[in-house]
Amino acid sequence: MTKLPARPDATNNNDSPLTMKQRLVIATNNAHKLEEITAVVGDKFEIVSLADIDCHEDIPETADTLEGNALLKARFVHERYGLDVFADDTGLEVDALGGQPGVHTARYAYPDRNDNEANVDKLLHELQGATDREAHFRTVIALIIGGEEHLFEGRVDGHITETRRGTEGFGYDPVFSPEDTGKTFAELGVEVKNRLSHRARAVQKLCAFLEQLDPH
Ligand code: IMP
Repeated sequence: MTKLPARPDATNNNDSPLTMKQRLVIATNNAHKLEEITAVVGDKFEIVSLADIDCHEDIPETADTLEGNALLKARFVHERYGLDVFADDTGLEVDALGGQPGVHTARYAYPDRNDNEANVDKLLHELQGATDREAHFRTVIALIIGGEEHLFEGRVDGHITETRRGTEGFGYDPVFSPEDTGKTFAELGVEVKNRLSHRARAVQKLCAFLEQLDPH
């Protein structure tokens, strides 16, 4: 097991042994995800990234479900570093495509890389002429804390539009329209999206769970 790197100098945030926060690794280096979760549970937990714990390995994502991949990532960190950790995995599941692209969402067009433009092109092509365009985004978060595993799911239902609309966001945002909005995620904008998205819903469940935990 790798030794936990020393905490950064705590004098600038007045940490004392009595106020020391519980450290929790988020198995990502995505600054946005880090910020989002810190904003909610940052007063109770010290949320650190993979880079913060000196983990620079490529974590395998070889499972065939979102749950499996989230658990793979969380277990990888927990087994090597012995730290409490959570990891997420997100997929777009399209009814008319039998739930695809699912775990292949990031690499739908090319198996070796994430090309957002090509992914969206492929999706629109696959759904050309389809009347059933229902789809949902699903985020699964796997948390390992105190040696126990927990799963949290966030989901947003909607449909795939016929063409791209809007300029904000990333990935499939220009072609995903959450139900009852009449707009795509890319038209709704990041602020609205962050309130109703699959990831926001999963993070809310994770945070509600973390907030009711007794510190140990
Ligand atoms: P990840 O598991 O968060 O890396 O997400 C996997 C892939 O799903 C990303 O590479 C995007 O293509 C897609 N994706 C995830 N979340 C969103 C979203 O909020 N909007 C659009 N696409 C997303």
